Amino acid sequence: MTTTTVKAYGAVDATGPLVALTIERREVGPHDVLIDIDYAGICHSDIHTIRGDWGPITYPQVVGHEIVGRVAAIGSAVTRHRVGDLVGVGCQSNSCGECAQCLQGHDQYCLRGNTQTYNSIDPADGTITQGGYSQAVVTNEDYVLAIPAGLDPAKTAPLLCAGITTYSPLRHWNVGPGTRVGVVGMGGLGHMGVKFAAALGADVTVLSRGTAKREDALTFGAHRYVDTTDREAMRELRGGLDLIINTVSAGIDIRAYLSLLDIDGTLVVVGAPAEPFSVPAFSLIPARRSIAGSTTGSITEIQEMLDFCAENGIHPETELVSADQINDAWERVLSADVRYRFVIDTKTL
Ligand code: NAP
Ligand code: ZN
Repeated sequence: MTTTTVKAYGAVDATGPLVALTIERREVGPHDVLIDIDYAGICHSDIHTIRGDWGPITYPQVVGHEIVGRVAAIGSAVTRHRVGDLVGVGCQSNSCGECAQCLQGHDQYCLRGNTQTYNSIDPADGTITQGGYSQAVVTNEDYVLAIPAGLDPAKTAPLLCAGITTYSPLRHWNVGPGTRVGVVGMGGLGHMGVKFAAALGADVTVLSRGTAKREDALTFGAHRYVDTTDREAMRELRGGLDLIINTVSAGIDIRAYLSLLDIDGTLVVVGAPAEPFSVPAFSLIPARRSIAGSTTGSITEIQEMLDFCAENGIHPETELVSADQINDAWERVLSADVRYRFVIDTKTL
């Protein structure tokens, strides 16, 4: 087997800074695409994973699941992509294709556990998958997205995770004109949730700590901004929402947010803190409320979301960083000082 050595930036343990290292990419198989990576977004999940918030992992580990680049080579049986195409890779890089969920097109909910772009066992060679903070990646063609014309490549990277993770639940819960949507936490995911909900015609309320993001929220299309530390403002909103998307990366007082839901309202958890939520029975019972979860989106849905962005001129707000700024960028994500997604210029690796 001929592997390719590429430069990357990754973790060698749970607590230290990320460092420059090299990783091996598998040989391009008949159904594989070799992608020269141009941009990789920084998702809070990258940090949770490396810091062990979701359980122990094996190091070294390179993260990054918001990847945009150009096809550099294709396997002999590839039909979906051509050399030179602008393409993307998101959170999932494979799935079994045979289970009930995969057969219904829900590959992100593969019953055997889909192959994540990083920190998964690669079915192709048994190694641990390594993500996008790197120069190149080899991915099965079915999990490579075509980037529509008109999208700025650097601003497209965050759509592959932050974009689809908020678009998918908004579509699943049929958000449209008349739906009162609340978005809790306005970071990478949250700001995309606001843009999508507004573009779908919903009445959008942003729930964020303090007032620093008020102007931005309104610019992104929100109709209302509530400072979650303002008890009176939170009280006024009680029963006033149909759907809440919780994007917060830390534990929150879920009771306070459930009380904002009207009858039959749903709070969708997409933020994935290490700590469990505490949900009192009587925060759900009196208004037949639901609490739900959602992960990313299927490959078909990601393609639909990319097309939706191209048609509606939607893009994330990004700040381009070089490799030597990644550790600082992580610190800024942890202190919610990101406006609103860092994207690594992988040429600087
Ligand atoms: P992010 O950019 O750091 O945004 C998280 C936001 O949460 C912050 O901007 C902040 O919003 C709020 N927040 C942070 N700490 C908080 C605290 N202690 N108390 C209250 N609010 C706090 O992160 P992200 O990349 O958007 O990811 C958000 C979460 O979603 C992470 O847990 C990530 O792992 C998860 N995620 C899940 C999926 C999925 O498939 N379900 C996919 C991607 C990411 P304000 O400053 O506005 O209050
Ligand atoms: Zn992510």
